[in-house]
Amino acid sequence: MSVQNVLDNIKENSIQFVDFRFVDLLGHAHHITLPATEVDADTFVNGVAFDGSSIHGFRGIENSDMVMMPDTESVFIDPFTTHPTLNVMCNIYTPDGERYDRDPRSIAQKAEEFLQTTGIGTSAFFAPEPEFFIFDEVRYESSMNASSYVVESEEAAWNTNRKEEGGNLGSKIPVKGGYVPVAPVDSQQDLRSEMVRLLQESGLRVERHHHEVATAGQAEINFRFDTLTKTADNLMKFKYIIHNTARQYGKTATFMPKPLFGDNGSGMHVHTSIFNGDSPLFYDKGAYANLSELAMHYIGGVLYHAPALIAITNPSTNSFKRLVPGYEAPVNLVFSKGNRSAAIRIPIAAVTPKGCRIEFRTPDNTANPYLAFAAMLLAGLDGIKRKLDPVALGYGPFDKNIYELPEEEKKEIRSVPGTLDEALNALEADSAFLTEGGVFTQEFIENYVAIKRAEAKAVAIRIHPHEFSLYYDC
Ligand code: GLN
Ligand code: MG
Ligand code: MG
Ligand code: MG
Repeated sequence: MSVQNVLDNIKENSIQFVDFRFVDLLGHAHHITLPATEVDADTFVNGVAFDGSSIHGFRGIENSDMVMMPDTESVFIDPFTTHPTLNVMCNIYTPDGERYDRDPRSIAQKAEEFLQTTGIGTSAFFAPEPEFFIFDEVRYESSMNASSYVVESEEAAWNTNRKEEGGNLGSKIPVKGGYVPVAPVDSQQDLRSEMVRLLQESGLRVERHHHEVATAGQAEINFRFDTLTKTADNLMKFKYIIHNTARQYGKTATFMPKPLFGDNGSGMHVHTSIFNGDSPLFYDKGAYANLSELAMHYIGGVLYHAPALIAITNPSTNSFKRLVPGYEAPVNLVFSKGNRSAAIRIPIAAVTPKGCRIEFRTPDNTANPYLAFAAMLLAGLDGIKRKLDPVALGYGPFDKNIYELPEEEKKEIRSVPGTLDEALNALEADSAFLTEGGVFTQEFIENYVAIKRAEAKAVAIRIHPHEFSLYYDC
């Protein structure tokens, strides 16, 4: 879309405000709004200034001026504002006109540019599968006391965390019993459909929605794949619309990976493939799961770098409460066709040559999508460059349920890191694949690790509810 198209759009739709947005290091969106009367072709050349020192992880107060440069490809009309408002996603530049090297969106674009310089392919496609919970209320720590945390069983645990929806009418989803039941057991079809309607109205091509496995309120809505930065933009739009539609219905949506102990968590599985022009590079009919050698090397790269990669795709203390056995979240660094207990699954049902792809099941929605997709691509490309063979490296294929393997066989299998700190250690030890082509800078990685270490520490020093049941009566 050209600048003129955007200006026409403003006129035709009687837009009153233009909302300029950018994304911070942690994946949160921020915005500054201009009256449409203040927006002209120059705005798209000069950008919109903001104070980078007030954004966590960006600049110091002594060096704080930054500029948002709007990307006309990303505009959509905000479905929630009272006054007609056009949203536009921006890149962040320094006042000297350089791309800011901590801007996640610029990093995503650099990853796409890097792919093209490798000669391997022209574009990488991404399709995330965001899962989330819709709750009636959020209970914060401050509203709890010691007795509400004395938990005897997993079932009791999730009961303390949620309240009865609309009174007890009998139709209830038990723990892990939520996968696609019809109403009245599924009480949220209308809400999900409304979310989908607004997503479509905002330009997203939605493919399906359903109730997910966990107890009442876990949802999944899938939208169509696109190239790397566009998919990250789409995910930002997606989360904005999900949160705000839930709010309009008097509910609250959360993408946190594991809100309920004892039930499934929410993942963000990510499907990827690489194309050269129109040709899919992951497909080879007749090979294992119809995967080309190049795709196997890509898998080798992702699994080899997974411990470090996970510091970016699963970057919260809560992420590691999801990555435990028994809840369809991957714990094992292996690949497999069809197997949902593997970190990489290769979908084989109804797959065409162009649809041939891999599904990395580890990521969750606390990831900043720009950084996560960029890091995944770099891990895969490193695998291709170094011809990493996932079979020779012992990553599978494992086509059995790995949770149920005999202990002897399980020992051979590598696991995901157990905590955020472990993942950060892995990232510190293995970051060269991220700085290839200057996509991430070393300085970026050091800053990122410091921020995430502080987060892990902030959680670790707080008194945990379960400590009351373990130690209260000592
Ligand atoms: N919720 C599961 C996870 O945490 C996935 C369930 C599914 O999509 N089959 O990854
Ligand atoms: Mg799914
Ligand atoms: Mg799912
Ligand atoms: Mg999936």
